[in-house]
Order: sequence, then C-alpha cells, then structure tokens
Amino acid sequence: MNWENNVRKVVPYVAGEQPKQKDVIKLNTNECPYPPAPAVEKALKEIDFDSFRLYPDPDTTSITEALAKYYNVSTKNVFVGVGSDDVLSMAFLTFFNSDKPILFPDVTYSFYDVWADLYRIPYKTVPLKDDWSIDKEGFKQENGGVIFPNPNAPTGLFEDVSTVEEIVSANPDVVVIVDEAYIDFGGESVIPLTSKYDNLLVVQTFSKSRAMAGMRIGFCIGNEKLIGYLNDAKFSFNSYTMNRPAQELGALAVLDDAYFKDITGRIVKTREWVKIELKRLGFTFPDSKANFIFASHKSIPAKDIYTYLRTRNIFVRYWDKARINNSLRITIGTDEQMKTLIGALEEYIGDK
Ligand SMILES: *Cc1c(COP(=O)(O)O)cnc(C)c1O
Repeated sequence: MNWENNVRKVVPYVAGEQPKQKDVIKLNTNECPYPPAPAVEKALKEIDFDSFRLYPDPDTTSITEALAKYYNVSTKNVFVGVGSDDVLSMAFLTFFNSDKPILFPDVTYSFYDVWADLYRIPYKTVPLKDDWSIDKEGFKQENGGVIFPNPNAPTGLFEDVSTVEEIVSANPDVVVIVDEAYIDFGGESVIPLTSKYDNLLVVQTFSKSRAMAGMRIGFCIGNEKLIGYLNDAKFSFNSYTMNRPAQELGALAVLDDAYFKDITGRIVKTREWVKIELKRLGFTFPDSKANFIFASHKSIPAKDIYTYLRTRNIFVRYWDKARINNSLRITIGTDEQMKTLIGALEEYIGDK
C-alpha cells in the first residue's frame, strides 16, 4: 500500500487537441498547413524497407551534417532529438542541475514548469511586462539557468537579438537556452551568437516551419562542450532516440531551402492579412512574428468565441489560466482556412 509514496509524481503537460474528425479547420497546435518538402515525399516512397530490421545510426550523422552545413557550424555544435520537446527535456536534465531556481517568463511555453517539476529543478517565473514583452531586467537576478522562447509563446512577440544577447551576457555562470520554435516566421536567430557565448544553447524544431510535426524532429546548436554534455546524457538514457526515416527524411527537408522559404513566406503573408481582418473585427493582439496570433476581443470573452468556433468545426487554442484566459491563440493556416475563420467570426460578432 505504501509503494505510492515512492512514485515520482508529476502533473503532465496537456497538449493541444488532435480531433479525430477530418473535416475540421485545425488552428490549435501551430502545425504547418502545407505539406513537407516534395523531396521528402519522394524519398518516403523509395525508403529501404529492409533497413527497418537494423537499429538507426545512434550518431544521427546524415541529419546532423545537413543541419551543420545549413547553419554554417560544425557537426560538433549540433544535437538532434525526437522533436524539440525531447531536446529541451534532455537540456533541462543536463544543464539545470543547481540548487538555485531556473528562470523563465510567467507566460510562456507551458512545458517548462512540467520538466522542472519532473526533474525536481527549482524555478521562478519572471512576469512579462504589461505589453507582453520579456522583462530582461528580471533575468539578471541570481539563478541556476535561464530559458525562454523567442518569439515567445503564446504571445508571438519577438525580442531583438540585442535583448537576447544582454540576457546571455548577464548570465555567464549558467546555461541560457533560447527556444526558437517560431524563429522562421520573421524573427532573427541567435545561432551566430553561439560562437561568442559558450553558455548559449539555441533550440529549434521541424514541427512548425518545416511542416514535419508528425516525424518528431528537433535540434539545438551550441558550443562543442555543451553538445558533448548533452550527448553524454542522451547516451545514458537511450542511444536510439531518432528512428531511421526521421533521420533520412529530416536531412532531405533541410536541403530544400527554396521550398522552406516559400511556405514560411506564404504563412507570413497570410498572417499579416489576418492581423488586418482581426483588427477590423475588434480584436487586439501583440504584433506576432510567429505562425499564430494571440488575440483578445474588446467585448466578447475568449472562451465564448472558442466555444462558438468549435460548433463551426474550427479549432483554436484556449487556456483557462490566470492572465491569459481572455485570449485565443490562433494558428495561421492557408488563406482559404483563414477566410473561413474570418467569415465565421464576422457572423458571430455581427450578431452581438
Ligand atoms: C511547438 C513548440 C515546441 C516543441 O515542438 P516539437 O514538436 O517537440 O519540436 C517547443 N517549444 C515551443 C515554444 C513550441 O511552441
């Protein structure tokens, strides 16, 4: 009866809903509305089925090489994992090992406090400013590590490279992780700063801008020493985290830069149009540089809009949480999907 006292208990992260119906407009988990690069589809059809008998490459060589070349760093500066959630979780385990609290914004990716709890890492949140921007001064207090997304989620706000650099240089004695899950939609990456700061780890994902959420591919770039420590942890955990197709197809996705630029450019263009339409309908929002908009309506509660949109088979993300419970996070889909959304909102708001 007492075994439960010795269980590692944790309150898990709640992922956005993946509805079973096919006919929904799915704007709730920031996936890409376009398919992966054409070379990925071609390679998938020609995949060496017999190779599935064999373990995958534990060193993830092909995708690591493709990423190193693309981002102009050495393969020793790259670590790849099963989605950036895997990379982030490994990084928490490896680098946040102090008795002092790690710091992250109060409104941010809701997985950070879950990993901190799972690994028993003390943490403290730094409140965002009233305009939803990151309070860089708050990250200058004593701490055991720092993590924040840029652009931040779910606000979509991008912080300049100079702001990020100020936070990194103020924290030379801990590892600073910048989660750039949404960097490809108009922000500027701090990957170039990793050669200047040996305590900076930059994490990115294939799930949003590279249209491969279902393949589960994420990576990080940092100083050779940081990557070495991450690999030590990974090989003490599970040597074969990334499966064969993910390694092979992920490498091909990186090579097709023209396609990548095309789909991210289309999403940015759609986003800017959606901003104009939402404004017209009475919404306010921080000026997103991500593939989503975090919007509140001037008179109608977010929860009511969320519930209404579901009746129209349109899924957006809503959190019943302090400070963000009057906002909806709306993923940018195709022009057609967004026109349907705006039409549905027009009908609803017009009736009020
Ligand atoms: C989506 C997201 C991730 C994780 O994405 P993966 O699919 O695990 O690569 C990490 N951080 C932020 C801020 C995200 O929004």
